[in-house]
This record gives sequence, structure tokens and C-alpha cells, in this order.
Amino acid sequence: MPDSARAAVISDIHGNLPALEAVLADVRRAGIDVVWCLGDLVGYGAQPNECVALAAEACAVCLVGNHDLVVLDRLDIATFSPNAALAARWTRSELGADARAFLNGLSASNTDQPIGLFHGSPRDPVWEYVLSPGLAAECIDSMDSRVGAVGHSHVALYFTSDASGEASGEPAASGAQIEIADGGWLLNPGSVGQPRDGDARAAWLEIDLAGWRATWRRSEYAVDEAAEAIREAGLPAALADRLYYGQ
Ligand code: ZN
Repeated sequence: MPDSARAAVISDIHGNLPALEAVLADVRRAGIDVVWCLGDLVGYGAQPNECVALAAEACAVCLVGNHDLVVLDRLDIATFSPNAALAARWTRSELGADARAFLNGLSASNTDQPIGLFHGSPRDPVWEYVLSPGLAAECIDSMDSRVGAVGHSHVALYFTSDASGEASGEPAASGAQIEIADGGWLLNPGSVGQPRDGDARAAWLEIDLAGWRATWRRSEYAVDEAAEAIREAGLPAALADRLYYGQ
């Protein structure tokens, strides 16, 4: 990877193909060098195989998330809400051999890149949600890298902590840009396929690895197409409806 590289970080695609296609088109238009995916490629949405194939082709690094692991039967489905469990069972029955093999080969963290990549958190890459500054500070302390990216919560946000361990953080709206040249950072791109921060557009994060600048992006996509596919698959209507509200 060149020193001037820019990376796109994406996460929580959840079988939403129109959203993933829209994000990758914007990433290409922006001339970004590399795409890193933080996991949860499937679950909730109606096009799991297509999403896994596209992510496998487009992403230099792809992590596995808790929803992927439940679908692979490597985590207990009893931890899921009723609709999440229904969607996971449906995805199990739909998932082809290629997608299954690809997901089975992935890990929930990758610390071989210029920033640390984790599905949930640096301490517990599968399960932990990083949603408070105090917890983020502990996570930043536990990282070998100065900057890390996490998904899992479906909320675009960032946390930072300075040398004294003082931590702060806030949600990152579309277009938010921060300098990350100093201090410890945990960045969440938000979710491609099921945003939960009130903005229905697909979320992703651009990182300038030379200038150490992070910019949160949103991509418009055909929500109707993703919602229609969910209804046609016979999945709960609530999973289609929430896409319109970004909740
Ligand atoms: Zn997720």
C-alpha cells in the first residue's frame, strides 16, 4: 500500500446488496486505494450470497461478525432477538457453499494493517459494543495500534483518549471530519446495510493514512429495493420498515 493511501472502512452490511453496491460505487468514484470490512456481512437482509461475493471481491481485509458466526452455527442463536434469530435461520437455509466457506475462513480482528480492525472491540472482537468514552479508553489502552476501527453497534461515531487517559467521543454525522494524527482513537464507520443512527443512508468511513484524517460518508441507495427483497423473502416486515428510518 502506498504511503499516501486512503482506506475506506465499511461494516455491518447485513445482506443489503443495494446499499453495498452504492457504497462501493462511491468508494471507486473517490479513488480510494483499499477497502476494509469489519464484518456482519449477513443477517437481517435478503441478499446474503450476493453481499458475501461482492465483499470478497472488493475488500482487501474482511472480518467475521457475530451475525455471520451465528449463521455459520459457531455462536448460539439464543443470544439473538426474535427477528434477528428468524433472519439468521433464514440466512442459514439460503447461504451457499462458496459464501459459507469464505465466511468460515475469516477472523473477527486484523492487526496487520496501519490501523487495528475489529468487529466489536479490541478486547472482545466478537461481542463487546463500544458506546461509552470510559469503555473506549480501556479499549484504546488495550490496542497495540494508536488508531482502531470497530463496527457492531451500527452507529457512526468516534472516541479518543489522551496521554492522561481522559476520554471523549461523539456520534459522527455525514461529512464529519477529524484529525487523528495524535492520541488514541477508536472510529466506527456506522452500518452499510442497517444504519441505526437515524440517517437511512448507507454509512462508511474514509481514512487518509498519510494525513491522518478521518471523514464519515453516507451513500444514497435504493432502500425500496432492499425492503422489497426482505418482504419477498418472507422475512419480518419490521426488518424492511426500519431501513427507511435508519433505526
Ligand atoms: Zn451488525
